[in-house]
Amino acid sequence: MAQKDDRTIKSALREKGYRLTGPRKGVADLLAKEGRPLSVQEIYEKMQKKVDLATVYRVIHLLLDLGLARKTGSPSGSALYEMEGEQHHHHIFCKECGRMEEIEGCLLSALEKELSRKKRFTITGHTLEFFGVCYDCGQKG
Ligand SMILES: [Zn+2]
Ligand SMILES: [Zn+2]
Ligand SMILES: [Zn+2]
Repeated sequence: MAQKDDRTIKSALREKGYRLTGPRKGVADLLAKEGRPLSVQEIYEKMQKKVDLATVYRVIHLLLDLGLARKTGSPSGSALYEMEGEQHHHHIFCKECGRMEEIEGCLLSALEKELSRKKRFTITGHTLEFFGVCYDCGQKG
C-alpha cells in the first residue's frame, strides 16, 4: 500500500499553517511504518513514551482533520487510526486473536451513488469493518 511521504505530510500541514514538529512526524512515521490501524494507547506505547498521551491525541486529531489519517472501528470498540493510503480499503478482524487483514478495494461505490442521490448528500467517505473468528482460531475451538 502506498503511503504518504514526509513531503506530502509536510506540505499538507503547511497549507493549514502547521509545522512538521517532532511529535507530528513521529506519529505519522510510526503509523506509516506499522501499516495497520493502531489505538492511541498503542501509538503512545510504541513511541516509548517520548511523547505524552495528550500530545498523541492532539496529533491524531490534527492528522484526521487534514485527511492524512483515517479512523476505523475495532472488535473491542476502541477507535483505531492509520495513515490514509492512496488506496481506500476496509478491514476484517478476528475477535479471538486480534489479527487484522486488509480488504482490498471497495464494493460500496454503487451504494454511495444511490445514497447520495436519494438523500441528496455529497458523500465524502465511509468506514466499514468486519469482525469474526479467523480460520486458525476456528480450528482451536
Ligand atoms: Zn488498513
Ligand atoms: Zn484469530
Ligand atoms: Zn469503502
